[in-house]
Order: sequence, then structure tokens, then C-alpha cells
Amino acid sequence: MIRKLISRVFGGKKTAATHNEPAVIPVSGHGITRDRLSSGSRRTCETLQQHGHKAFVVGGAVRDLLIGADPKDFDIATDATPEQVRACFRRSRIIGRRFQIVHVMMGAETLEVTTFRGTLDEKTKTDEHGRVLHDNVFGSQAEDAARRDFTANALYYDPATEAVLDYHHGVADLKQKTLRMIGEPRARYREDPVRMLRAVRLAAKLGLQIDPEARKPIREMATLLENVPPARLFDEMLKLLTSGHSVKCLTQLRDEGLHHGLLPLLDVILEQPMGEKFVMAALASTDERVRRGKGTSPSFLFATLLWHEVLALWDKLKGEGMLKTPALYQAMDHILDVQAEKLAITRRITGDIKEIWSLQPRFEQRAGKRPYALLEQPRFRAAYDFLVLRAEAGEINKELAEWWTRFQNIDGEQRSEMLLPEQAGEKKKRRRKKKPAASSVDRSSGE
Ligand code: ATP
Ligand code: MG
Repeated sequence: MIRKLISRVFGGKKTAATHNEPAVIPVSGHGITRDRLSSGSRRTCETLQQHGHKAFVVGGAVRDLLIGADPKDFDIATDATPEQVRACFRRSRIIGRRFQIVHVMMGAETLEVTTFRGTLDEKTKTDEHGRVLHDNVFGSQAEDAARRDFTANALYYDPATEAVLDYHHGVADLKQKTLRMIGEPRARYREDPVRMLRAVRLAAKLGLQIDPEARKPIREMATLLENVPPARLFDEMLKLLTSGHSVKCLTQLRDEGLHHGLLPLLDVILEQPMGEKFVMAALASTDERVRRGKGTSPSFLFATLLWHEVLALWDKLKGEGMLKTPALYQAMDHILDVQAEKLAITRRITGDIKEIWSLQPRFEQRAGKRPYALLEQPRFRAAYDFLVLRAEAGEINKELAEWWTRFQNIDGEQRSEMLLPEQAGEKKKRRRKKKPAASSVDRSSGE
């Protein structure tokens, strides 16, 4: 309402060009004093300003402070070029391919310092769907504001004056709990389809409504996500899953039609009744950890999300006559390969996921020396937590998880009393020579 009135008074529909002058909102109007910033972000802005540059805290941090949330990190925007920023700080380095930024190290903090970006024009390189490929042109602060995605993300806080510079009515939108796209939503999604995922994530995380104009096109433009590089999708999915609001984010993704066929992972999560209880339990417990400020493990989370896929394929392969362990390894590889087509899960995380999975059959062996060897595994703790989750979801007998809880917590004497009698078959199996087919089966083989 107020926005409509303002835009009528100041002359019609807003475009980037009419946003050259920001509203300057003093501290009395927003209440964010500079002591709410991290000391690193304050010092970085101060140093840049002392060298004659403009410098502001920008984006998510200002947005979060305005709605009373704790910012995850503090990003800085400046009119200094990356080289000029580099020259102001001894401990800093230029990084980035798509757009160069500078990492400034201040004590334990690393600040991301970004030079104002310029307007896209006809020379900007895009793919055949209009996705921007290179984005390395610097510009004015007003241009930088117009290049940001949502009005609430285009707010600049000056620690020296404690004023917020607002180019796109972001403060008013935040007050009305609205996530509004800057510019024409369809064009902005075409430039960067990941903005659709960001809209859903930020709305869910911050309790905002996506403005209908930005919400409407999502369903029909969802397929554009197929052309986004898998590494970027992985980054965004990770942010979504570790936002502390993953259940809400995923439900909203489904409501917006953003999951089907786009990311196999989401189909797995949202369309498999078999694994749903397990997946939802894992997501809810991750959300809980994030909200309590505890760390989360992406590999544990991905291991959970994909476990029922692995189980189904593992069963199928065993049914076709494959041995237990090689079948498990083949199932793991295949399920991860399917994901990798759309989602570049990093190698380190894939390695961890496989370890958590491959240790699962070994929990079944509770005789002889094997349980002791399992305790010594570096990934025992994660694998054990995973086992507990499986028991809680009813996939395996609770008694097995309880046995392991007790086994690891009692002392040596009692431990040996807990061991089950070794069965004749098991000993024979251990003496069996390795089959050629098992060559891909490594150290954690349970055969
Ligand atoms: P979070 O709380 O997850 O950090 P954020 O909005 O700060 O949310 P970042 O990825 O840290 O997200 O981005 C910082 C800022 O950069 C954003 O607030 C926004 O202004 C701008 N930005 C990020 N991604 C995009 C994008 N895809 N298109 C336009 N602007 C973007
Ligand atoms: Mg941020």
C-alpha cells in the first residue's frame, strides 16, 4: 500500500534507473548500532574508508539484523577494485572466477569484500537460455544495488554513520515481511535460475512471503535449473539443508513445483514414502542442531537422504545373486553417480558418505574381535549415529543400536561378556580367499 503510494507520488513504475539515490535511514529509524557488527567487519570498513574508499556491510547481514536474526557472516561491498582492497590489508587474497572477490583475514574472521558490480548489457555473455556466464564488470553503488536479487538484500550499512542506505525500499518490504525481487522477476530468474531456490530458502528461513509477482513465474521457469552447473546447485542445496529450516524449505520447494525431476535428490526426499520417516527425522534433527548453534555434518546429512535409495538397489542386486558386500558397493556408487549428474557433491563428502554406509553391515557382527575393530574406525561415531537413526526410524531392530550404545560405553571386562558366540559359518567365511569380484571392496569390507 505504502509502496504503491510512494511510487505513484514519485512517478510510476520503478526501474533500476529510478533508483539512483538511496533513502538514507538513520539509526533512529532502524535501531542497528555499530556494536551489532562483528569486529572484523567494522575494522575492514574503517580501513577501506581511511584509504578513501566507500565501504559498507551489505546483503544478508543487514537484512538479518533488521529482522532481529543473527547474521551468519558479514559481507562488505566497496568501490575499491580487488587490487585496491588487496593493497589495504596485509592478510588478504583475491579469489573467485565468476566474480573476483577479496578475502580479508581479521583474527579468526574472514570477510568477503566485493567490488560494486555494474549493470549487465548486451555485451554480457549468457548461455542460450539467458543465464549470465561472466559477471566481472564493476559499477556504481546504485548499479550494484540493482544487480542484487531481492530488495531486502540490497541494503548497505555504514558503520561510520550507522545509517542504512536503501535503494529499493528493502526496509519497508522487510517490515511487511515480503521478499520482493528487484526488477522483473522473469528476467532475473533467466539471468540466474538459482534465484528461484534462494527465494524459497530465504522466505522459509526468515518467515517472509515471496511477493506474488516473484512467486508466480517459478513454477513455469523451474526447468531452467537444469542448466545450472552442478557445483552451484550443490552449494545452494547445502545452504538450504543446513539453514536450520530445511523441512520448511523442502516443503515449500514442493509447493512451488521446484523439485520434480529437477534434482534427483529432491525426488528422493519428497516422493519416496518408504524413506520419508527416516529422511524427515534426519532433517528435523539437523534443523534442531543448527538452531542450537551446533555444527552439522553435510556428509551425514547426504548419507541419510540417500540411504533408502541405496537400500533398495542393494536388495535388488543381492536378489540377482550378487554377494552382500560387492552389492553394497555397487549400489553406493550407482546412487552417488545418479546424483552427480545434477549435483556435484564434493569428493571429500562423497568419501565420507561411503564410509558411513559401508560400515553399517559391520554393526551386525557382534562376535570375536570384529566389534573392537569397528570401534577403532575413525568414522565409527558418525556410522553409529547413523545406526541409531535407522533404529529410530524402524528400519532395523532397536536392540542392535542399544547393544552398540552399551558396548562402547562400558569397560573391557563387561565388554567381552557382551560378545555374542561366534557362529561356525562366520569363521569359515573369514578364511575364504578374496574373490576377484571383491577387488573393489576395500578395508571396511564385512565379508
Ligand atoms: P545467507 O543468509 O544465506 O548468507 P545472503 O543473502 O547473505 O544469505 P549470500 O550468498 O551470502 O546470501 O549473498 C550475499 C548477497 O549477495 C545477497 O544478500 C545478495 O545481495 C547478493 N546475492 C547473492 N546471490 C545472488 C544472486 N544469485 N543474484 C543476485 N544477488 C545475489
Ligand atoms: Mg551471506
